[in-house]
Amino acid sequence: MNEKCFAKKTVPSRSGDCICLDGNCPGYAQCPFYKPVWKFQHDTEKRYARLAALPEDMQKHIAYTYYRGLMPWRRDIV
Ligand code: SF4
Repeated sequence: MNEKCFAKKTVPSRSGDCICLDGNCPGYAQCPFYKPVWKFQHDTEKRYARLAALPEDMQKHIAYTYYRGLMPWRRDIV
């Protein structure tokens, strides 16, 4: 597989070269969490579209609970 994973750091740090898992990347073929960047972006767009379709109070609840009060699916702040 030659497509870069969305979680791969460009510069490895002391905690490894993956932003999601602690440690070094074992290689895309060995990792069950591998997702190419284009798929991650596609999934994010789908997730944001679903969030934007929810009632306002539910969007605010999700924003405060999981997005530090932000609503990136609407490009604004609660
Ligand atoms: S393939 Fe797995 S370990 Fe490697 S960067 Fe992606 S998510 Fe992290």
